[in-house]
Amino acid sequence: MTRTTADVTFLRGYNQALVMAVGRTVRTFERSTVVHATGLTPQAVSKVIARLTADGLIRSAGVRRPGIGKPAVVYELVPDSRYAIGAHVARRTLRLVLVDLAGTVHHSTVSPLPADFTPEQLLDALSVGIGAITAGTELRSRLTGVGIGMIGPLDHAHGLVRDAHGLRHWHDVPLRELAEAHLGLPVHLDKDVTAGITAEAWRHGATFGDAALIMVESGIGGGFWLGGTAHRGAHTNAGEFGHTVVDLDGPRCVCGRLGCLEVVHLRAIEAGDVPRAARVLAVGVVNLLQTLDLAHVVLAGADLLRHADVYLPAVERAVRTDVPRADWLAPMVTLSRLGADVIAAGAAVQVLDQLYGIPDLTPGTPPAIVRQPVAGAH
Ligand SMILES: [Zn+2]
Repeated sequence: MTRTTADVTFLRGYNQALVMAVGRTVRTFERSTVVHATGLTPQAVSKVIARLTADGLIRSAGVRRPGIGKPAVVYELVPDSRYAIGAHVARRTLRLVLVDLAGTVHHSTVSPLPADFTPEQLLDALSVGIGAITAGTELRSRLTGVGIGMIGPLDHAHGLVRDAHGLRHWHDVPLRELAEAHLGLPVHLDKDVTAGITAEAWRHGATFGDAALIMVESGIGGGFWLGGTAHRGAHTNAGEFGHTVVDLDGPRCVCGRLGCLEVVHLRAIEAGDVPRAARVLAVGVVNLLQTLDLAHVVLAGADLLRHADVYLPAVERAVRTDVPRADWLAPMVTLSRLGADVIAAGAAVQVLDQLYGIPDLTPGTPPAIVRQPVAGAH
């Protein structure tokens, strides 16, 4: 492909993604809404709208007749035109959700996984679960893929589960490739917490600033949204927040070090002292805020949500009292509104985002495209 052709293809995808983003954010929109929101030319928007309508992704929802001027066609996203399945693989459970193009969760199931499950056991459980969701429906033709959010360490770029903590059969397992072959669908593999923060970002839309999702569920992880995108790091393994040391002489952690946030927190839980566990987590959150200066902290995970009435105030209090100049630097602290579905929903959203979200701006991309999505818009 020549450079020019590549640029045109990129711009077409970019402009289409901008229109889709408007469609997800507002319930209905007109051509002029998109022109104002994106800075694209009316001609370019017309072309994108025609293409998206032909693909069934948006549809006309009527005509608005202003007092003066020409009537305007009103459009809306067609939520049931595309679906993705999201899977949250935890140490003992598999949660599956069905998510539509608007990001709405339609179906959520949770099933047990065998203790210390193998890759084959997981693939079979995925196959059975997805079969149950799609059985007797016309869904298959509108299914875009499967997103898997899993515990790490995990290599998102290569689709490999490195050595998942607490699971013996998961050393450099090419799960993405195995799952694609087993399920016959495109698969997107990411760390559970990164999937989770993506779900939150889609829900909040363009106003979502730098943020972290802190998950407490058979371990502690952190997913990051920085500069308008999921932050995965140099080896795509960002998020091992639970394995940062808070006590030099603390107990031995599953990762081998002494005094990790995760093991210190676990000891408090084992002693039945949930308030202390919440304070331990809050110390970690404040450390994170000091490092990254975040606008929003989202608390999630089954073990946390079970005691949300203890964790949320503990973290809020620590943020108010322990962050210097909390009047200036304090972020918003909330519970995930997707509850137990957040990881699975985020994994599904990542599939949709790959197809219909703003394309990645790869290092080779000319910066002009970033500044001027309008140029050569068709
Ligand atoms: Zn550790």
